[in-house]
Amino acid sequence: MRTDYDTLIIGAGFSGLYALYRFRDVLGLRARVLEAGDGVGGTWYWNRYPGARCDSESFYYSYSFSEELEQEWEWTCRYPDQPEILAYLNHVADRFDLRRDIQLETRVVSATFDDVAAVWTVETERVERFTTHYLISAVGCLSATNVPEIPGLERFEGDWYHTSRWPHEGVDFTGKRVGLIGTGSTGIQATPVIAAEARHLTVFQRTPNFSVPARNAPLDPEGWKWIKQNYRALRQLTRESSGGFPYIPSERSAMDVSDEERNAVYEQLWKEGGFKFVFGSFHDITRNKAANDTAAEFIRRKIRETVKDPATAELLCPTDHPYAAKRPPIDTDYYETFNRDNVTLVDIRSDPIVEITKTGLRTGKASYELDVIVFATGFDAMTGSLLRMDIRGAGGVRLADKWKDGPRTLLGLMVAGFPNLFTVTGPGSPSVLVNMPVAIEQHVDWISDCVAYMAEKGVTRIEATEEAEDAWVDHVYEASLETLMHEADSWYVGANIPGKKRVILPYTGGQLVYREHCDETAAKGYAGFELR
Ligand SMILES: Cc1cc2nc3c(=O)[nH]c(=O)nc-3n(C[C@H](O)[C@H](O)[C@H](O)COP(=O)(O)OP(=O)(O)OC[C@H]3O[C@@H](n4cnc5c(N)ncnc54)[C@H](O)[C@@H]3O)c2cc1C
Repeated sequence: MRTDYDTLIIGAGFSGLYALYRFRDVLGLRARVLEAGDGVGGTWYWNRYPGARCDSESFYYSYSFSEELEQEWEWTCRYPDQPEILAYLNHVADRFDLRRDIQLETRVVSATFDDVAAVWTVETERVERFTTHYLISAVGCLSATNVPEIPGLERFEGDWYHTSRWPHEGVDFTGKRVGLIGTGSTGIQATPVIAAEARHLTVFQRTPNFSVPARNAPLDPEGWKWIKQNYRALRQLTRESSGGFPYIPSERSAMDVSDEERNAVYEQLWKEGGFKFVFGSFHDITRNKAANDTAAEFIRRKIRETVKDPATAELLCPTDHPYAAKRPPIDTDYYETFNRDNVTLVDIRSDPIVEITKTGLRTGKASYELDVIVFATGFDAMTGSLLRMDIRGAGGVRLADKWKDGPRTLLGLMVAGFPNLFTVTGPGSPSVLVNMPVAIEQHVDWISDCVAYMAEKGVTRIEATEEAEDAWVDHVYEASLETLMHEADSWYVGANIPGKKRVILPYTGGQLVYREHCDETAAKGYAGFELR
C-alpha cells in the first residue's frame, strides 16, 4: 500500500529535528514532522519561564552529527538560557532546510496500526489523517505538563502560569505578590529571578531539594577555541561516559578517602559548579547510601552556612531522600535568595495547601494573598506525552492498557505488539539520566540504521518480541536496585503524578552499558525483534 509518508515523526524538539534529518536527508525517505507547538524547539519552545536555561554545558548540550554546525555555532556562556538554545534549534532547522517538512500547530491525537497492511494511520486535532509506514515518537520525556489538581484554581482572580506553558510575551512581576509552587530544577531556577522582580515571593515547598551552584559565566575566547579544536575527542568522551558528559569519571569511592580528602573534593567541585559534583566526585555517591550521605551532609552544611535564618535553613535541608535520587538541580543564588526580605518559604509538607481562593491560597493553618501563582510542578514524565495520544497497535490493543502497570519496552525503543513504532528516549532507556542530546542522537541513529537494515533485507515490519521485552523490563528493574532511586518520591518513579503506577522509568544501568546492549542487538541482526 502506498502511504502518505514513509516516516512520520511526532515532535520537533532535539529528537524530531534530528530524526527528520536522518530519515529524509540520510536515508532519502519521505518524512514529515507533526508538531503541536507553533514553532520548533520542543522543551526550549515551551519552557520560557524566568531563569530557564540548561544545566548541561553548552558545548555538549548540542548536536554532534555535523562538524560544520559545531564549528560555526558560537555559544555565549557555560549554560545558555532558553532564548539562546531556541535560537540554536531554529538555526538547525534553517541550516538543514528542515522546515519544509515540519507541520506546526498539529497535535497528534491518535495512531492506529493496520495489521494487514502494516500501516499506521495518524489523526490530528485538526482532524487530518495521514498514513505512514514507520511512526517515530519524538514527543519528549518532559513535555506533558503537570498542573496539580488543587481545588479552587478556577475561581482565582489573579493570573496563574505553568512554567512549561509560559506566555511568549513574558510576565511582568513588578509590584506583584507571587506564589511559586514546586522546588524541582525549574522552581530552583525561577526563584531567584522572580524574587528580584516581584514585590514579594512566597515559595511553597513540599520537598526540599539538594542544589549545587551552576557557576554560569561567559565562555572565554581561548577556552572556546580549545573546545572547537578538541570537539571530536570531547564528543567521544560523552559517548563513552555513563551520563553522557565529557568528564573522566572518578574511580574513587567516597568511602576510601579520609574526611579531609573527601571534603576537599567536594569543596573543589562546589567551586567549579555544575553536574560534575555528581558525576566527577566519587563513583559511588548515586549507588551507596553511606557514600551518598557524605555528599548530602556536605550540601546541608553549605545550606546552613548560606541561609541566615536558622529555621529557614533547616526547612531547606533535605533529609528524606538521598542526594541525586531526584533529578539533581544546579542553581544561581537559590539558597541566597532566602536571605532577601521579600522572600518567604512555606512548608506545605507539614501544612498542606487546602485550596486556592479568589485572592490567593489557603493551607490548613494560614492564608496567603497572591496576585500571581506560578506552578513549577513539572511533567508527567516519560510516559505522559505518549499516553496522551490514543495509540493502538496490532489487534487494536491500546498502549494505555498495555502499560496500565507501568511501561513495557525493549530498550526503550519499541513495544511488543506495536510494530514499526519507535520511541525516541522512551521509558526503559537511559534518556533523562544522560545529557540528552547524546542519548537522542544514539537513539535516532539506532532507529534509522535499523530501518536501513530492513530496506536492505527487504523486510517491512519489525516489532519487539514479548520474551525480549520481558527480559529487558526485568533488567531495567534489577539495574535500578543497584541505585538509590527507589528511596525518593520522584518523577523518575512516577511518584509526582497521583495514581501513576510507581515504576522506575529510565534505565539506570548507564549509557555505556546501554549502548552495548543496543549495538549487540543490531550486530546480531536485531536479536529480540521479529522482522518480516
Ligand atoms: C526546563 C528544562 C531544562 C532541561 N535541561 C536539560 C539539560 O540541561 N540537559 C539535558 O540533557 N536535558 C535537559 N532537559 C531535558 C530536555 O527535555 C531534553 O534535553 C531535550 O530538549 C528533549 O528533546 P526532545 O525532542 O526529545 O523532546 P522535547 O523537546 O520535549 O520535544 C517534544 C516535542 O513533541 C511535541 N509533542 C508532544 N506530544 C505531541 C503530540 N501528541 N502531537 C504533536 N506534537 C507533540 C511537543 O510539543 C514538543 O515540542 C531539560 C528539560 C526541561 C523541561
